[in-house]
Amino acid sequence: MADKMYLGIDIGGTAVKLGLVDEDGNMVSRVLEYPVKFDNYETPIIETVVKSTRLFMEDNNKNFAEIAGIGVSATGGINTKLGIVEGSAGHIKNWEGTNIRSRFENEFGVKTAVLNDANAAALGEMWKGAARGKENVVVMTIGTGVGGGIIVDSKILLGTKGFAGEIGHIPVNVDGEDCSCGNKGCIEHYGSTSALVRKVKEAVISGEIKGIEAGKVDGRLIFKEVAAGNEVVIKYVDEWINYISAALVGLVHTFNPEMIILGGGVSGQKELFVDKVKEKVLKSVMPNFAIGLTVESAKLGNDAGIIGAVRFIK
Ligand SMILES: [Zn+2]
Repeated sequence: MADKMYLGIDIGGTAVKLGLVDEDGNMVSRVLEYPVKFDNYETPIIETVVKSTRLFMEDNNKNFAEIAGIGVSATGGINTKLGIVEGSAGHIKNWEGTNIRSRFENEFGVKTAVLNDANAAALGEMWKGAARGKENVVVMTIGTGVGGGIIVDSKILLGTKGFAGEIGHIPVNVDGEDCSCGNKGCIEHYGSTSALVRKVKEAVISGEIKGIEAGKVDGRLIFKEVAAGNEVVIKYVDEWINYISAALVGLVHTFNPEMIILGGGVSGQKELFVDKVKEKVLKSVMPNFAIGLTVESAKLGNDAGIIGAVRFIK
């Protein structure tokens, strides 16, 4: 049993998750989750998080003096030097400008560090997940949006202020759809699971895809159709994989990773998704970049942010 104990907190748009982690990165408590959106953020998330943190510690019969550090993984653009939310995830009220670090340090008297949730998840995967022991890794998380984290020489790439790794906003189509970031054609609009669902739904509504109800289209149904050999759905999935792979090829050429990790619900689809991306990326990158490069699914799931945030404070 390791001596030091850390508190890991993962603040998302719908819930905050908390867990105790030892210095070797093992979760030593049950992960508890509290909702943050119950009144559409009228109660600022930070207030809910502070309250939940006290509840969590009481539940575990721990006091803050036993905690060596608090690592916080948080949604939005996080200035890691200051521990402040400097870019909001758009739809979250009362979030931008929150000084998470000083609030925690004043409230609990424990050294605190904060980083963006996608970067935390990437660090978690390096410490205890799919990229254990790897030093150069690109993590791409595919869901409602596209997020990511880049590990260079065993460290999470933060950039000047801590905003690095926003790979969802790599433009892949300069004449493409408008993005919430103000640009056009970001990979998020072409490579997210939401984008795939939207395209397939449109094809169902237009009559190009038959035998499916538009209201029932989701990632799971799409992959069921692919497995069943539905050629039109396969065409849309292939196009989607092409976009994802194109962004990854650019990242491989920029960072020369030894591993790419794909996260999000769709990363559970090994043959129909992860292996396809792998094949495409390995075929498209310059041959010297392909040697030894692997593509794997993320392993830690929902705990990645908590574990990665603790890695960051440790
Ligand atoms: Zn964008």
